[in-house]
Amino acid sequence: MNSHKTTHHTTGGEHQTTGGEHQTTGGDHQTTGSQCPVCNKWFKFPSWLEMHMRTHTGVKPFKCDICGRGFGRKDSWRNHKLVHMNKGDI
Ligand SMILES: [Zn+2]
Ligand SMILES: [Zn+2]
Repeated sequence: MNSHKTTHHTTGGEHQTTGGEHQTTGGDHQTTGSQCPVCNKWFKFPSWLEMHMRTHTGVKPFKCDICGRGFGRKDSWRNHKLVHMNKGDI
């Protein structure tokens, strides 16, 4: 009677690399910079990625004080304000 079967249950390979900010998923990828986890786009500087992430998260810190529209980027916000300027004061 040798039915000593130890059912070795390893519940799903939860492979956690502690603080793995630097994931090289196969291949000769660009390793410098930051990668967007949503659309996998690479950015040279982390701050660029931060700004880009707003397009995904929908965070719009720049708000037009005239019409209340929100903008994720400062340059688009400034561009937008020109619209009002042209309308009101030519
Ligand atoms: Zn993205
Ligand atoms: Zn506006």
